Amino acid sequence: MTTARPLPDVVWDDTLIRKYNIKGPRYTSYPTAVQFHDISAMEAEHHLMQQQSAGPMSLYIHIPFCRHLCYYCGCNKIASKSVRQADEYLDRLALEMANTSRFFGQRTITQLHLGGGTPTFLNEAQMSRLLDLVSRNYQWLPDAGAGEYSIELDPRETSPEMLKLLRERGFNRLSFGIQDFNEATQIAIHRVQPLGLVQPLIEQSRDLAFESLNFDLIYGLPHQTPTTFAETLEQVIELNPDRISLYNYAHLPERFPAQKRLGMIGLPNPETKLQLIQLAITRLQDAGYRYIGMDHFARADDSLCKALDEGTLQRNFQGYATQAETDMLALGVSGISQIGGAILQNHTDLEHYQNRIDNGQLAIRRGFWLSEDDTVRRAAINALSCQGYLNFADFDRQNGVNSRQYFSSSLNQLKKLQADGLVHINSQAVAVTELGRLLLRPILMAFDAYLDESNQNAFSKVL
Ligand code: SF4
Repeated sequence: MTTARPLPDVVWDDTLIRKYNIKGPRYTSYPTAVQFHDISAMEAEHHLMQQQSAGPMSLYIHIPFCRHLCYYCGCNKIASKSVRQADEYLDRLALEMANTSRFFGQRTITQLHLGGGTPTFLNEAQMSRLLDLVSRNYQWLPDAGAGEYSIELDPRETSPEMLKLLRERGFNRLSFGIQDFNEATQIAIHRVQPLGLVQPLIEQSRDLAFESLNFDLIYGLPHQTPTTFAETLEQVIELNPDRISLYNYAHLPERFPAQKRLGMIGLPNPETKLQLIQLAITRLQDAGYRYIGMDHFARADDSLCKALDEGTLQRNFQGYATQAETDMLALGVSGISQIGGAILQNHTDLEHYQNRIDNGQLAIRRGFWLSEDDTVRRAAINALSCQGYLNFADFDRQNGVNSRQYFSSSLNQLKKLQADGLVHINSQAVAVTELGRLLLRPILMAFDAYLDESNQNAFSKVL
């Protein structure tokens, strides 16, 4: 574990924000998805057979279906209203679990996350079936109370009965897709869910004693102005979620055609976007939220803040996590696993995914085999994104390198950022400053061996 060190609050510096607000990865994985290449089911199977670890692990299950499509969305999702289609998908998940439990059935699941799409596209009977399958195939013991079991919720698709079921089945964390409460914005993005719909769900979640509630918000959407967004922030603060994820809307209409509609309505200009994020950071910090790192805030008593202070915070495909670094098995179409030095992604196309599963094969289509260099660079990127600190002596002991020599080129690149006050480097460590915490991506990019001008445009801007 890296030496723990309290992280400073975030400081906004207009000049530096403008200078370093460049395009770059969010580093939910290293290497990033841009580097993934083809991997056959046989190669993946061989890799899984080699795994010796008996340690705890994380499980992610992707439910791709949505009843209504939001125009801003960049997720892997499928428009559907068919209950039968969900049943057929569950049949495939059952087969995939039976197949993968050969490798992982004895390992304890300490983190379970249901994402999508819309996980509550499943009705209560289907959700029960899914959770029964998890219990049957893996060591998932939610009653022990030590793990994190979470689900993404669309307020429009969440019934009181579903919340009750999830709590009874051991879920302790909920993540609500809120985005913005402003009516004009909700209409423009095709996601109308007024405060009056959300509030009773939050109250019920509190009554059911879910440990932690997260809200996803997005800035950079049509009709958002500092005035409207300030109103949304006040409504959010009033509802008092434990965590807030505040994402920069990434406008990529060539990849996600539905986003063209938002471009036609009109998006806030870069100047307004900066005003929106500055407003949010100021208001949330004033209201008692702490900035965790890229896009994430949490209340001081939330476990994310404790992990931040204790130096145990982790970064994964869902953002930040509090559990020790574990292998992650991802099931379902497009799921991305991270297992023993490999990143393995299932087919992103439902038909291909189902064909593979029906043939008794793993559904893995692409991914990445991490080299020793990738593993060392990933450790440096994780240390700086989770602890804001890379202690050379600790790092050398844990990774078997002389980090000052190993990263001499990265440290050289960071000199410019040091001169601007984003990092502090001395003979013992690299430390992210209060100015650098908001501009973490340019700091991390200095450690990325794959990034160059040709692929940088594949990413969104820092802010
Ligand atoms: S934002 Fe969520 S609910 Fe909306 S289309 Fe995307 S995955 Fe579906």
